[in-house]
Amino acid sequence: MLSLTFLGTGAATPTIDRNVAGLVLQREGETILFDCGEGSQRQMMRYGVGFSFAEIFFSHYHADHLLGVTGLLRTLGLQGRTAPVTLYGPRGAQRVLGAAVSLGIERNKFPIEIREIRAGDRLRREEYDIVVFETDHRADTVGYALTEHTRLGRFHPEHARELGVPEGPLWGRLHRGETIILEDGRTIRPEDLVGAPRRGRTVVYSGDTRPCLTLVEAAREADLLVHEATFGGDELERAQETGHSTAAEAARVAQEAGVRRLVLTHISPRYSRDAPELLAEARAIFPDTVIARDGLTVEVPFSE
Ligand SMILES: [Zn+2]
Ligand SMILES: [Zn+2]
Repeated sequence: MLSLTFLGTGAATPTIDRNVAGLVLQREGETILFDCGEGSQRQMMRYGVGFSFAEIFFSHYHADHLLGVTGLLRTLGLQGRTAPVTLYGPRGAQRVLGAAVSLGIERNKFPIEIREIRAGDRLRREEYDIVVFETDHRADTVGYALTEHTRLGRFHPEHARELGVPEGPLWGRLHRGETIILEDGRTIRPEDLVGAPRRGRTVVYSGDTRPCLTLVEAAREADLLVHEATFGGDELERAQETGHSTAAEAARVAQEAGVRRLVLTHISPRYSRDAPELLAEARAIFPDTVIARDGLTVEVPFSE
């Protein structure tokens, strides 16, 4: 299971329809947050996202991506949390996140670690990596790609039996790619009974940015790209001035990167709840586009 839930999909200020930035990734029972705008904790309650996360990744420190973290951590403290939380962010992490974490007079009751990351970092996990890439937003900003490791090919037990490989540890060794020699002297190669390795899934989050090459590279053939689309084409100049993207620009990034699906978020308060004009602009370039709304959950299936 791999899914994304949008806690907030608006730009800069909350509106009745859209809260500010917050994105939840859930994968095999693990929950990870990306950005944490004001009110994110209430959105988590509303949309049934548990508080079991251990990490928040910040794209940058504009208030609409940040202000929710103080209250969220306080609530965890009141709930008696003891497990640590790690906050990741680009340059300035210690100063900005440190201030957010220590604001007020409460004492944190559980360990909070702050880690500064930079573009090019790759955080290696058991089953996936989180890749940090540079974005272009008139500040120290990054985007994140979660890339699952390639999975072992499918093991065919019926072939193993036909070949007379006894069930047990030898099956595991073959599955992991080892060539084995049976007691009768025959050599069995993994390709005799294991299919081709299967590609893991990739999900990419742009944060706030102008269209940029580093993002296209990071999103190459991704299963899902979440890209900001603050404005429509009639506001291109404003998008350029403020370091944001139009819906059409986001769609072009998706097209160039060859992603499977595009979800647009970070929508300016000037657009209506469904923002049909943004959707039309994007779909004219990249048909498999949706506009996120608060509470939307998107499943990311394997491509095979
Ligand atoms: Zn923003
Ligand atoms: Zn911003």
